[in-house]
Amino acid sequence: MAQSLFLSTNLSPSRYIQGEEQWLGCFALKTKPSHLKLSSGCRIRANAVCNAGFKPVEIPRQWYNLIADLSVKPPPSLHPKTFEPVKPEDLSPLFPDELIKQEASTDQFIDIPEEVLNVYSLWRPTPLIRAKRLEKLLDTPARIYYKYEGVSPAGSHKPNTAVPQIWYNAQQGVKNVVTETGAGQWGCSLAFACSLFGLNCEVWQVRASYDQKPYRKLMMQTWGAKVHPSPSTLTEAGRKILLLDPSSPGSLGIAISEAVEVAATDADTKYCLGSVLNHVLLHQTVIGEECIKQMEAIGETPDIIIGCTGGGSNFAGLSFPFIREKLNGKINPLIRAVEPTACPSLTKGVYAYDYGDTAGMTPLMKMHTLGHDFIPDPIHAGGLRYHGMAPLISHVYELGYMEAIAIPQTECFQGAIQFARSEGIIPAPEPTHAIAATIKEALHCRETGESKVILMAMCGHGHFDLPAYDKYLQGAMVDLSFAEEKVKASLARIPQLVSRGEANV
Ligand SMILES: *Cc1c(COP(=O)(O)O)cnc(C)c1O
Repeated sequence: MAQSLFLSTNLSPSRYIQGEEQWLGCFALKTKPSHLKLSSGCRIRANAVCNAGFKPVEIPRQWYNLIADLSVKPPPSLHPKTFEPVKPEDLSPLFPDELIKQEASTDQFIDIPEEVLNVYSLWRPTPLIRAKRLEKLLDTPARIYYKYEGVSPAGSHKPNTAVPQIWYNAQQGVKNVVTETGAGQWGCSLAFACSLFGLNCEVWQVRASYDQKPYRKLMMQTWGAKVHPSPSTLTEAGRKILLLDPSSPGSLGIAISEAVEVAATDADTKYCLGSVLNHVLLHQTVIGEECIKQMEAIGETPDIIIGCTGGGSNFAGLSFPFIREKLNGKINPLIRAVEPTACPSLTKGVYAYDYGDTAGMTPLMKMHTLGHDFIPDPIHAGGLRYHGMAPLISHVYELGYMEAIAIPQTECFQGAIQFARSEGIIPAPEPTHAIAATIKEALHCRETGESKVILMAMCGHGHFDLPAYDKYLQGAMVDLSFAEEKVKASLARIPQLVSRGEANV
């Protein structure tokens, strides 16, 4: 097996540059991995901890599976027709075997394949940054740290799972994959991963963002993907929606139905999902594992960990390894998810079996849901407009290991502007929720005089979301309230499973 430079390099620690220097030149690969088009791994992140400290850390070699450490296991997913627990073979039209295995795994750690580590080394370890200037602006005694995933090629945490998903597909000889995308971040990440491993990629992009975000679409096309607006006339699910509403703005739930339908009816095509599922959350734990080492390196322990939740993957990625440490009694941080008031699945949804998509083709998952046909108002944080929450996060929430709050978008953008003008990075609309919650906490510390350590998931930059900033800066952004009646109606349509004793109430 070809060795990755990251793992095979005989760089002595002294070759790491300490201090201001961020990158340590480019090394020639002695053994070039032949199956990678890109000669990745030519850059070594020297001071991964950036201005939080200067000790370099390595990319973790294993993902962490929180399920292994839970004494109460999460309820199984159910077949959408029989309501029986899903069997591995039910999933094989959609996913390669290795990902199906990971989906059901109870192993505590799973090795990251060397080729995946090699690609990760293009942008990992990602920086952990102390937000000193934001602290000063807020005049808070709190110490604020953020783990920044916007340094990936696609600009968010999503390549952390796109790369292994495509690698496992490539290993099984799969040539075509399909997916959905909301804001375009996931479609970009998958298109990027497919370009590395030579797979064809087709993306159904939610109509509203297809029209509003031409640059994300162009990024996907630049990486070689084919992009369709959803709902489309290419699928049964899309045609059904268009018949009811020809000008439908689409939703993630509808786009998932379209992509799943294509994969389920085409033997040569598999499906990829960018959030929600266990294996996606698993891959994202590279963030938290890395962050634990970085915080150890600078002698800090988080008192509170904050992240935004759409399907829950960036939040789980950062927080699950810390929850392990919490379960082990080593630390005791508060873990706080932040969602938009316009799509509040954790804070206003019900914990029930529901479909992952609008047409009801996916397995039934027990999760916090607003109803599978709930179409949230078009807030700017497109990645947070999903009707459900990852079943594993929902379970952890029910167990009481974490809490959740909802924040309206104008408050989020107010925080984003403060962040951009003090820390420099322009955040994606999704992590503005984490930023607003962090600012709330930091201001609370100012009141109480506590110097808490706040750790925040900064999951992406907003370079392709500037129309949202335009709206905010012009004073034209409004808060879209939670539509109580709309949710009541969609909750009435979630499946009733009383017969299995799994009553949805
Ligand atoms: C997709 C996305 C999200 C929402 O997805 P999660 O699975 O909840 O992380 C949040 N932020 C960014 C930048 C995204 O691209």
